Amino acid sequence: MLNIVIFGPPGAGKGTQSARLTEKYHLIHLSTGDILRGEIESGSILGQEAKLLMDQGLLVPDEIVITMINNKLVQNSNATGFIFDGFPRTIHQAEALDRLLYAKGTGISMTLALDISNEELIQRIIKRGEELGRTDDQDLDTISKRITEYTSKTAPLKEYYSKQKKFFAIRGVGSIDEIFNSLCMAVESHYNPGQKQVYSAPPLPAVLPSVLAEKQVKKVEKKVAAKAATKTTKKLTKNVVKNVIKKVAKKTTKKTVKKAAKKTAKKLPAKKVISKKKNTSKKAPKKKAAGKKKTRR
Ligand code: AMP
Repeated sequence: MLNIVIFGPPGAGKGTQSARLTEKYHLIHLSTGDILRGEIESGSILGQEAKLLMDQGLLVPDEIVITMINNKLVQNSNATGFIFDGFPRTIHQAEALDRLLYAKGTGISMTLALDISNEELIQRIIKRGEELGRTDDQDLDTISKRITEYTSKTAPLKEYYSKQKKFFAIRGVGSIDEIFNSLCMAVESHYNPGQKQVYSAPPLPAVLPSVLAEKQVKKVEKKVAAKAATKTTKKLTKNVVKNVIKKVAKKTTKKTVKKAAKKTAKKLPAKKVISKKKNTSKKAPKKKAAGKKKTRR
């Protein structure tokens, strides 16, 4: 399968050249920009949301365009090749595309980059805006935002495909025919239909962002629960300790009182005897005295 990524900043001529390459090599042309504009025309919710971003010169979220491309790949399962125009635009999209193609037993054959200066780009975009009426081609702020998005998010793909030895730059200035010829030469020198290709795809991230988010939420929940538990245990322990202290105090006072009572009770009879003895010994002389007194009278 011949799978080409046509690469370059907005206004580089990717759409025009893709249409020609599609015809010559019998490919299916997949342009995420065209698909999104189709959504806008149909008035779908996706289209309405995408329009808000597109009119500001911002990229549409990765997951949306990846899903769109996946749907197209499924719809065209008998295709002999694809040309990806305006996709991928981020590393995440490039990795997803590699995975999608790998799952189908294929991969990217080459990335053809149209080289062009920023001044040339702006002139071309403004001209296209006048001819086709694209709203995002008519405002200088939006155009410059799109170029900034390209530089920060899309240009790093050069390294991604260079590492795979699939990145080829083509001079994007000159007539449409001249540029097309350069592109065809590149296709034919880097693609041999008779040669079996070996493809690879980056592994899926060990932990998907959604799973990661879920795990983080669970972690926080656990921490909160643990904190609450320690608080209640602390409260409980405090109360328990208080109660125990009270009970122990009560018991000990009861015990000590009892013990003391017992002790005194044990000691009491001896004292009584002593006191009785004392009393009798004290009373005896009185009686005697009384007796003595009586006898005196
Ligand atoms: P294009 O027709 O390729 O210039 O795309 C027009 C606009 O559609 C871009 O400025 C983005 O807002 C949006 N768009 C197209 N393709 C993508 C993509 N692969 N990823 C994110 N946004 C995209």
